[in-house]
Amino acid sequence: MPSSTDLNRPQKSISFSQRVVQWHHQHGRKNLPWQQTTGAEKPYHVWLSEIMLQQTQVIKVIEYFDRFISAFPTLNDLAAADEQQVLALWSGLGYYNRARNLHKAARICVDQHQATLPRDLDQLIALPGIGRSTAAAIMSLAYNQPEPIMDGNVKRVFARYFLVDGEPNKSSTLKQLWQLAEAHREIDEPAAYTQGLMDLGATLCSKTKPRCDVCPITESCLAKAKGVIADYPQKKRKVKQVEVDLFVVLSVDQQHVALELRNEHSIWPSLWFPPVFADKDSLLATHPNAKKHFSLTHKLTHRILQIHVFNVAQVVNHPEIKWVNIEKLEQYPHPKALNHILNQHDNH
Ligand code: SF4
Repeated sequence: MPSSTDLNRPQKSISFSQRVVQWHHQHGRKNLPWQQTTGAEKPYHVWLSEIMLQQTQVIKVIEYFDRFISAFPTLNDLAAADEQQVLALWSGLGYYNRARNLHKAARICVDQHQATLPRDLDQLIALPGIGRSTAAAIMSLAYNQPEPIMDGNVKRVFARYFLVDGEPNKSSTLKQLWQLAEAHREIDEPAAYTQGLMDLGATLCSKTKPRCDVCPITESCLAKAKGVIADYPQKKRKVKQVEVDLFVVLSVDQQHVALELRNEHSIWPSLWFPPVFADKDSLLATHPNAKKHFSLTHKLTHRILQIHVFNVAQVVNHPEIKWVNIEKLEQYPHPKALNHILNQHDNH
């Protein structure tokens, strides 16, 4: 029991990082699959989760992470895999360069770092697909080193808490955010701090409905104090999405679909998709009996695809065509657009 003298004494002020650490111990996420790994493969599992989480919600990542780790439990297994196997397990997650880089980096680790992820920030950053924040997350979560992170969620927390002006990805703003992150390192419990910051950004300090009422740093949050939370982080001007028409020949029977492996310089490099033409005339020139079936809209980050699907009995003039069993489609890495096309096809 505290004595009455203790109660009258002013509370010892605790730092920003300590508040986040305390909150993490009480409320942070501790049951995610990659948090359960111990031992030599922990850095690999943390790295994989960080790469998957870059553009994807936790709930979806959990499913993909488990499948990926079952297929490639160790970094050595990933390095030994074929790129097509890796992409097949990534199918549907999007941003496939993440998977290609992961695979390349695993091979470099086997060749140059005794099949482990280096325990060094600069060596991590030198690997394909690992930026400064991902490297720092690996250093702190896997190796418990006090390296500050600055991912999308943390940028939002810092921009609001410290009232940082400017669009967060602009170099001058980013520089300021990194300086603040450096100045608020957590030395005693770096892993708990990093996880806590990520969780706080993802669950409390959300884009549209921040839960300031239960936030552990609410008392000193500048955006909260000034009532300007909705204005931070400041917005970037919207990039206009370009519309692109794709003309696709679809050849299916009850069980199969004709697909080709797309070249390195196309949309969806190294993924399987029905043959695509840039315009209707060139499609009809090679497939004069093609019949327009339906059109659909498919959105990517910077492009809105208008996909015009033509039925053909047989695809011609494509040496790379494979007649793929639709039930085994997941063995052929493919973009989500293919699933949309096949669903629409079934509904017609
Ligand atoms: S007080 Fe509100 S705006 Fe400030 S960091 Fe917490 S949740 Fe975000």
